[in-house]
Amino acid sequence: MRDTTGRRLVYREMLYHARDRSVLELAASGAARRRSRQTSPTAGSYTRLQRELDRGAVQELRMTLVAIGGALQLLHDDPDIYGLCELCGAPISPARLHVMPWATRCDAHDGVTVH
Ligand SMILES: [Zn+2]
Repeated sequence: MRDTTGRRLVYREMLYHARDRSVLELAASGAARRRSRQTSPTAGSYTRLQRELDRGAVQELRMTLVAIGGALQLLHDDPDIYGLCELCGAPISPARLHVMPWATRCDAHDGVTVH
């Protein structure tokens, strides 16, 4: 067995932290939305643009949470596959995993649409 257990533990910790952070951010944005609705039900400081931006951010946070859950599941179920690109099987660069430990694709395949 390769000596990658320590590295995986590090990624697992990073994933847990990222998950906690995302959950907190989601909760905070929900609270901000409720607050602004109470203080300025029509226009006020909370503009329509702001609301749309928030909605996009919330959507992104939710997607990140799903991705984090998937990565944690993979680390648990099939740790040998964690950190490999789902398209080409190449190892995802440590730099990339450091920023996005839930990444499922290498730099070359990031953003590639599969039909
Ligand atoms: Zn790839």
